[in-house]
Amino acid sequence: MRYSRQIALDKIGKKNQEKLSKKTITILGLGAIGSVTAELLARSGINLILIDHDKIDITNLQRQLLYTEKDINQYKVNIASKKLKEINSTIKIKTHKKCLTNKNLKILNSDLILDCSDNLETRFLINKYSLKTKIPWIHTAALKTRTVLYNFIQNKNNTRPCFNCLYKKNSEFETCEDSGILNTVTTLIATLQATQALKALLNYKYEDKLLRINIWDNSIEKLTVKKDKNCKTCTMDVKTKKIEVGKFTLKLCKTKSAYSVKPFRNVRLNLNEIKDMYEPIIETPLLLIVKIKKYEVIVHNYGELIFKDLKNEAMIKKIAKDIYTLADSSKLKQKIKQKH
Ligand SMILES: [Zn+2]
Repeated sequence: MRYSRQIALDKIGKKNQEKLSKKTITILGLGAIGSVTAELLARSGINLILIDHDKIDITNLQRQLLYTEKDINQYKVNIASKKLKEINSTIKIKTHKKCLTNKNLKILNSDLILDCSDNLETRFLINKYSLKTKIPWIHTAALKTRTVLYNFIQNKNNTRPCFNCLYKKNSEFETCEDSGILNTVTTLIATLQATQALKALLNYKYEDKLLRINIWDNSIEKLTVKKDKNCKTCTMDVKTKKIEVGKFTLKLCKTKSAYSVKPFRNVRLNLNEIKDMYEPIIETPLLLIVKIKKYEVIVHNYGELIFKDLKNEAMIKKIAKDIYTLADSSKLKQKIKQKH
């Protein structure tokens, strides 16, 4: 039994192991942290989406444990997915050989996003996507002998900070190239991140403090971080949720054997915005057919959503809420634009 040691653990057990096998985690960045996190999670039996645009070079080998000399000049996603499949052929691995941009945020779509990137822009993009979709993410960063980790998992009252609350734009970040990095510190934070990821997927109580560790001094700090009440990124989203999102009805049409969701009030959905967030299959000016997880959803611009193959009402409600929230936030943005 591949997972017998993990199942024997009282925190996991058979049921949770089955749960984990149905989850998918996106790992953004396959460098020193991401390559280790990916290996640990692949061995734990979790499906992965791997995103990285870079090739392996000789300076990576000091800390990127998944790669060897013969992998130099090959793309990290290709080598990582090949090796992870050799380690665990029972999990699904999807790869994207690209940089994350404002236009392809939907490639992050999964149960949890792990930030193993090395730049602020990418983290602001993950933050934006996470606020829109409510998909939680775990931020890590490491430099020299220091590292940080923070769980961006929102609570029901929306009182937890977003990335923008913590790091204002244009803060200056040093890079590994300039300052150097110890391979033990990236490996340490990767194992912490993988552990937090398991806990998040299994709905265990998550660490709500910012973890800051200096492996050289053996110092571990837990810092309380607060939501910035004036943060434009997340306070707007909260307002959107409270004021703008209306109720909707859910109906099973027997003739079509499909679920239909209609909003109570008139909405005009911005199909372009929705197209950016999910994988479009068919696009017309009046309706879109998009793929959400593995299900097809027909999105009419007058607000009706048709779910043909998804029968889970809770999931339908969640997707509908996400789509209507998206519609509302774009309306709100338009209003703000018009004011200025
Ligand atoms: Zn914020």
